[in-house]
Amino acid sequence: MTQPNESTRRRFLKFVAGAAALPTAASLLRSAMAAEAKQLDEADPAAAALGYKMDTTQVDAAKYPQHQPTQDCGGCRYYQGKAGSEWAPCTIFPGKGSVHTKGWCAAYAAK
Ligand code: SF4
Repeated sequence: MTQPNESTRRRFLKFVAGAAALPTAASLLRSAMAAEAKQLDEADPAAAALGYKMDTTQVDAAKYPQHQPTQDCGGCRYYQGKAGSEWAPCTIFPGKGSVHTKGWCAAYAAK
């Protein structure tokens, strides 16, 4: 039987170190769940740019004259929650946390 030479050993150790640094499926799932559990911050630049409010009654009517009080995330096609879910991800703000079912932003599009 031949012994692995120094170069082979080094390559193996580099491979093991690299593999250990890769995210596991569990850590990727945890990250996705954390993003979903996190709530979209109204002050987030992307949210602020679209005038996101977690309460549709707080939308600036002067700035967003197209807004109607009956419009909210729960009735928007981009809301990813099931019926009755209070918070859910929105496809307009991927990875930024969930929006409230009674929220609103200027990207609103009725289902
Ligand atoms: Fe709510 Fe729709 Fe705006 Fe997303 S796109 S924040 S679901 S109104």
